[in-house]
Amino acid sequence: METPTSFKVNHLILEPGVYLRDADEQRGVYTYDIRLVKPTLAYREAITPQMSHTMEHCLAHFLRTMSAIQSEIVYVGPMGCLTGFYILTYTKYTESKMRDIMVTALEYMLSIDEVPGAKAEECGNYTLFDLESTKRRVPEFILLLKKQ
Ligand SMILES: [Zn+2]
Repeated sequence: METPTSFKVNHLILEPGVYLRDADEQRGVYTYDIRLVKPTLAYREAITPQMSHTMEHCLAHFLRTMSAIQSEIVYVGPMGCLTGFYILTYTKYTESKMRDIMVTALEYMLSIDEVPGAKAEECGNYTLFDLESTKRRVPEFILLLKKQ
C-alpha cells in the first residue's frame, strides 16, 4: 500500500513554515503545506475549528480574488489536524514567494470586520466562525512565517 507524501514527513521535528510538499511536474499541480502550529505543541496550541473555518474563508477569498496568484489557485483548505492549511497551485512558486503571499493574506485577515462568504446561503456551516479570536492569533502566525 502506498503512503501519502504528507504521512512521510516526520511531524515530531516539523517547525511552522511554508513547505512545497508535493510537485506534480507532469500534471502541473503543486501542493504547499502552510504549517502555522508546531505539531508537537498541537495538543495545546492547535487552532479551533471556528478559527480554522474563518481562516479558510479569508484565505480562499484573498487568494482567489485579491492576490497576485489568483488565477493559479487550484485549492485552498484546512488541515484536519488544525495546525495549518493546504494551498494547491498550477504554477510552481518558491517557498519564500508563497510565504510572502501568506503573510499578505494574514495581514488581510487583520483588516476585515466580516468573514467573506459567511452567509447561510454561501457556506455549509455559517455558525462556525470566530473572527475575533482569529484576529487575536494572526499576528503570532505572521511572526512565525517571517522567522522561518
Ligand atoms: Zn464555510
